[in-house]
Amino acid sequence: MTRAGAIFGLAALLGTLALGACSGNQAATGQASAGAAAAAKPEDAAPPAVSTGGFDGQRAYRHVADLVAIGPRSAGTEGGRRAQEYIVSQLQGFGCAVEQAAFTARGTPVGDVNMKNIIAKVPGTSPDILLFATHYDTKRMANFVGADDGGSSSGVMLELARSVCARKNALTVWIAFFDGEEAFNAEWVDPDNTYGSRELAARMALSGELGRVRAFILADMVGNRNLRLKRESQSTLWLTDLIWSTAARLGYERIFVSDSEPIEDDHLPFLRRGVAVVDIIDFENPRNDYWHKPSDTLDKVSPRSLAAVGHVLIETLPQLENRFSPAANH
Ligand SMILES: [Zn+2]
Repeated sequence: MTRAGAIFGLAALLGTLALGACSGNQAATGQASAGAAAAAKPEDAAPPAVSTGGFDGQRAYRHVADLVAIGPRSAGTEGGRRAQEYIVSQLQGFGCAVEQAAFTARGTPVGDVNMKNIIAKVPGTSPDILLFATHYDTKRMANFVGADDGGSSSGVMLELARSVCARKNALTVWIAFFDGEEAFNAEWVDPDNTYGSRELAARMALSGELGRVRAFILADMVGNRNLRLKRESQSTLWLTDLIWSTAARLGYERIFVSDSEPIEDDHLPFLRRGVAVVDIIDFENPRNDYWHKPSDTLDKVSPRSLAAVGHVLIETLPQLENRFSPAANH
């Protein structure tokens, strides 16, 4: 993601690596992933899942490692397709019902691009929908594997799905994995960005499902070891307050800080259509270091940070259920 106006010196629009051309690569990268996953620094270790609401930060980190091992995962590429397969197979393994919503983004700066949103759908007692979201694509640049940008939040959402799909929830919960968040051009200029989220928002508006969404909760770039999540200033106030106060209650006030900053991201297509939204993102740390650079690698991601965000998301769910359950007359 980015705000408008950012400039990159190393735009490589056609820099996709042809990973996965032979099956031997897959086994090799799988082993690399296991080794890399074990290499997180001891101080970055996630606490036991019992202390983070059942959310297992180490499992989330392994998902990030597996996605990174695929290599670049830009929309419309072989790496992107392999990321889709990985996400779908993991979700199905958790017992989630999975929708694979393919579409073609027409007339992008690199032509028509086949994309796919993946949505885990967990029926609830109420038809009201709580929609969690991440993007899984990576920016189309040479040697860019997006460990934090695209990887970290996807790992969190996969681990969240493991918890949520296994239980009966009062609210219907959807967890969306968006394709095509990243701009193909070096710079972020509308409409060359957020292809997947714009597609899902439009489809849900057509079907009428958008009117059932009570909250849209986006995570993006949540893996930094010095994670510092400012309040995104366009996000809906009550929803931001609910999440930040939950984080404070759990002792994460040094991560969920009170500063604010506007960020353009996958929440905006839903905000524009009147949905209550929040974007949980640390832009500042990546921007000052590895953002949209080949150095956005697995060593930038802390299992402990993933655990903190996952813990807050898990604990946010019952509060939203209290707010919107049928018993509360909504
Ligand atoms: Zn990005």
